[in-house]
Amino acid sequence: MSRIAYVNGRYLPHADAVVHVEDRGFQFADGVYEVCEIWNGQIVDMTRHLDRLARSLNELSMDWPVERRALTMILRETIRRNRVKDGLVYLQITRGQARRDFSFPKGKVPPTLVVTARSSDPKAALKVGEEGISVITTPDIRWERVDIKTVSLLPQVLAKEKAVRAGAKEAWMFDKDGFVTEGASSNAWIVSQDGTLITRPAEKGILRGITRAAIMDYAAANGITVEERPFTIEEAKAAREAFITSATMTASPVVKIDDSVIGNGAPGSIVSDMRARFHEAVEKLALSVY
Ligand code: PMP
Repeated sequence: MSRIAYVNGRYLPHADAVVHVEDRGFQFADGVYEVCEIWNGQIVDMTRHLDRLARSLNELSMDWPVERRALTMILRETIRRNRVKDGLVYLQITRGQARRDFSFPKGKVPPTLVVTARSSDPKAALKVGEEGISVITTPDIRWERVDIKTVSLLPQVLAKEKAVRAGAKEAWMFDKDGFVTEGASSNAWIVSQDGTLITRPAEKGILRGITRAAIMDYAAANGITVEERPFTIEEAKAAREAFITSATMTASPVVKIDDSVIGNGAPGSIVSDMRARFHEAVEKLALSVY
């Protein structure tokens, strides 16, 4: 079955789904994005994702390309047309197409909206849960407004490539004081010997992960203590468990950081429980076509 993408009001075959060369996303990374998990025919945590999108757009003084309700319809329709039951839906919004000039375009330029959906391999997710993943560590070279979910992802591209070349799945970036900030495309967590979840505070220096927020709710509901504080790479390497969170990876156990094995090298029990029960706890929007 051929894949379909939504581009500025039209559902197009992937081969024809293009944006203009002078699109500000292409020229300046002047745009924002979101990615939501599709689980069992439902969009996970869409309300939180759209709330963050509202914030990202507002921080960059960008307009909604369509109103929020219409955007929800487009997400659902793109998923339906691609017959995705378990997978991901991506949306990209840029400041639109305009004659190249660093400052914002003068006058009313409609934002560009692109939505794509793809299925994921349930076997790969099963393997992650059973075996865990490795991460490497790398200096965080991103700009300071990493709280905005922008498409300026070059530092993350470089970090992720470094991870892949080292045979790891993710890169944990660290600040100039040696504290872990977050993953290239995920939030970073460790579990202390007494079973407390530790993750960096979200006020500054990291993206406020939707999955991170969902895990906080899960922890509160299950009597698990969460400490929001920075932790060093050394502390992470000595932790009882480690894991990452993101819409694309839910909660995924980390079993190795650089050359250090975490715990006994197998996924820890706390993260394994959270991963297994994650979808019980989150908001789910039924797609009503399954
Ligand atoms: N941090 C960064 C830098 C990311 O790119 C992502 C993935 N979107 C996350 C954290 C996790 O956020 P979420 O749980 O909303 O996917």
